Amino acid sequence: MPELPDVAGFQRYLQATALHQRIRGSHLTDRRILDHQSPQMLARRLKGRKIDSARRRGKWLFAELDSGEALGLHFGMSGELDYAAQKSDWPDHARLILDFDSGYRLAVISRRLLGRTRVVEDIGTFAARRELGPDALDEDLGREAFQRRMQGRRGSVKSALMNQSIVAGIGNVYSDEILFQAGLHPRRRMDRLDGEDLSNLYRVMRRVLRTAARFGGDAREAPAGWLLGGRSADTPCPRCGHELESGTVAGRTAWWCPRCQQRPDD
Ligand SMILES: [Zn+2]
Repeated sequence: MPELPDVAGFQRYLQATALHQRIRGSHLTDRRILDHQSPQMLARRLKGRKIDSARRRGKWLFAELDSGEALGLHFGMSGELDYAAQKSDWPDHARLILDFDSGYRLAVISRRLLGRTRVVEDIGTFAARRELGPDALDEDLGREAFQRRMQGRRGSVKSALMNQSIVAGIGNVYSDEILFQAGLHPRRRMDRLDGEDLSNLYRVMRRVLRTAARFGGDAREAPAGWLLGGRSADTPCPRCGHELESGTVAGRTAWWCPRCQQRPDD
């Protein structure tokens, strides 16, 4: 599932391909990806516009239009973008296609139809309505602000990291990576973490996401010693060689090293 580092890759891709070209028209192949917007409304607000820039807020990518509005894209379980000449075939599972006056088109691909799209008037208002917290790599999200947002939360540290209203962009895979590198067990309870734990968690979160955003979330590019890509019972801990463990935490399958990560009750 695309998380912040993957969406950062899409953001770069969009910026490198589709900016400053007029949208001649759009094709919606499946209206189920629409997020509370009619197909007519979407088409009308895209037609004749140009994309000025691309912004990210957690797992949402926003193509900012020259009208002041933005096309919001959420990639769900699996999704990607494909920019190519208009005469080339649409890729499989293309749900929204923007035709530019340059002769090129941008296709939004969503294999399992869990992606979402809509034009929003204002990103900040949209984020507030959705209770989306700041992007986990937001420059304004300092250590203290992070600690304030995390403090007083119930449940496991993994569920807090994945809670998009605290910070946005972290899902199952990167919460495991961050906790592995921070030496914290995913089931560790939030009320058992002190200021030092949270400060360390912030530092590791920023480092992991920044690094992963650079390689666009491709697990094959992950640095040595990362959990990413080795999330299976056949792969030993990349740091100590111990067998990895897995279990359901916050409704998702988490992976951890029982030797490198403090047990929840330690
Ligand atoms: Zn280990």
